[in-house]
Order: sequence, then C-alpha cells, then structure tokens
Amino acid sequence: MSFPLPLAPCSKRDGGNGISCEQFEYASSVATTLMAPVKTDREILEHSMSEDDPNANTQVPSVVGSQLRWGPRHKGAQELAELYSPGKRLQESICVVVCCTLCVYAGVLMTRHIYFDAYLLFAVLAGVLTADFASGVAHWAADTWGSVDLPIIGKNFLRPFREHHIDPTSITRHDFIETNGDNFAITIPVLARIVWQLSCYDNETIHVNFHWIAYWYLCCIFVAMTNQIHKWSHTYFGLPGWVVALQEWRVVLPRRHHRVHHVAPHETYFCITTGWLNWPLELIRFWSTLETVIEALTGCKPRADDMKWAQKKT
Ligand SMILES: [Zn+2]
Ligand SMILES: [Zn+2]
Repeated sequence: MSFPLPLAPCSKRDGGNGISCEQFEYASSVATTLMAPVKTDREILEHSMSEDDPNANTQVPSVVGSQLRWGPRHKGAQELAELYSPGKRLQESICVVVCCTLCVYAGVLMTRHIYFDAYLLFAVLAGVLTADFASGVAHWAADTWGSVDLPIIGKNFLRPFREHHIDPTSITRHDFIETNGDNFAITIPVLARIVWQLSCYDNETIHVNFHWIAYWYLCCIFVAMTNQIHKWSHTYFGLPGWVVALQEWRVVLPRRHHRVHHVAPHETYFCITTGWLNWPLELIRFWSTLETVIEALTGCKPRADDMKWAQKKT
C-alpha cells in the first residue's frame, strides 16, 4: 500500500513559478513510482527527514525521546557544521574564481570553432551522462567509506557528506561558495586543458577534436553544477520557476527523485546531477555489488562512519 507524501499545497511550495499542481504531481509520481520504485512512499515518509514542511524539519522531542534523528539540532550535525574552517573557505573561494574564469574563457574560445551536427548532440549527452555517473561514484565513495577522522580528506571533503545525511536542509543554508567550492575545484584541470587546446592547436586540429572538447566541456559544466543542482533538489520553497521546470523535465535532479537517496541507511540513488543513471544502476545492483566485493577484500563495513555520526547523542 502506498500513500501520498504530506506535501504542502503547490501554491505555497513554488508560488508564481508557472508550474501547475497537476504538472508537479504527475512528474513527481513518475520520478518516484515509475522510474524509481526502489523505496515506497511509506519508507520515504518514515525513514527520511521531512523537508517540504518547514515545521517538521526537526522532530518533536516528545515523539522521539531525547535523541533527534535528523535536523539542525542533532548533536552530530552541530559538531560537523563547526568543523567548517576558514582555511577550507579560502580554498573554496579560490577554486570558484579560477573555475568560473576558465569556464567563461573556454566557452568564448569554443564559439569560434563550433559547428552543429548529430555527433555534437551525442557528445553533449555523453558529457552529461558522464557527469551524472561521476557524481554517483564520488557520492557513493564519500558516503560509504572513510571517516571524518582521516587526515586532510576527513574534515575537508568527507565531513559535508556526513552532515548532509543528518541535516539534509543544511545545504539550503550554505552560500554559493560553500555549496560549489569542491565541485568547481574538480573541473579546474580539465578546463585548463581545454583552454590550452583551444589556444595552442591550429584550426584544423581543433576541428578534428571539437566533439571531444565539447564532451569534456559539458561534462565539466555539469560536474561543477552538481552540488548546486543537489541544493535545488532540497529546496522546497522559493525556487525560481525555470529551476522547477528543469527539475520537472528531468534535465536536473528532481526533488522527489532525490528523496529516495535520503531514506536511511542511504544506500542507493547516489547520482545527483541529473539522476538519469540511478534506476539502471539499481537494476544491475551496481552499488551493492561493489560494496560486497570491497567488504570481502578489506573487511571494512559500508557506512560505518555515517552510522556513527547519525547515532551521536553528546
Ligand atoms: Zn548521500
Ligand atoms: Zn541530498
């Protein structure tokens, strides 16, 4: 048996964005029922934090006892949020500036050589699919393995993943730099190579390689935008109409689709750029097979650190 999630009325959710309730509900049911029958509405309701009702962002203590399962008042979430350091902030700021500069410069250089054919469309789609798969691999690895106690990567790169599971709405309170700094950083070497190719190759060589350059450029754009897209998928109030339209058309990760990942213990639907690959990867049991092999080889338990932070009381 399934029953609808307790969503607020459309007018309150996305006031004035031009998306009708009917369109929203239809696309939402496609995202969660037809395309993603991995978690039922009941599982989503009972084992993830309600984000679409601002009054339910944290649970009522009398209902759950003294330990909160989710939200900004959870002890683990508060401790993890305090580990965001000025040094990390500086690194993110530099990466955002460098990435944006390279991205604009590469885009301007590409306009001098662009030509349209079927292969360009294929290159663009392949670039977006690659970004979606890369988001899944990076997200799965960070969610499943390692610990916040690890030197350098623990506090700087794994910490946000742990915080996000305990307090999913914290991302909606992060500004542009904190949201996007790490993803922008990943694309810098590839964008720098594209700029170098477009600046140093002769016209004939650029023409021959243009589809590959377009593939990598689109991949970089979607990798860079992944956490912004992820943030939108957690934002149920005040999103611009064009963002909601992109979500409903499945160009970027839809909100209801990403709710499937946030069902404890967070073991599936790791792709967070477009989400296109989540269902096929679930169908072939991609993540669970990988985890079984790694656990057999190393003895490490998947999500042990994630579980530790979720259970933190003091
Ligand atoms: Zn996750
Ligand atoms: Zn999320």
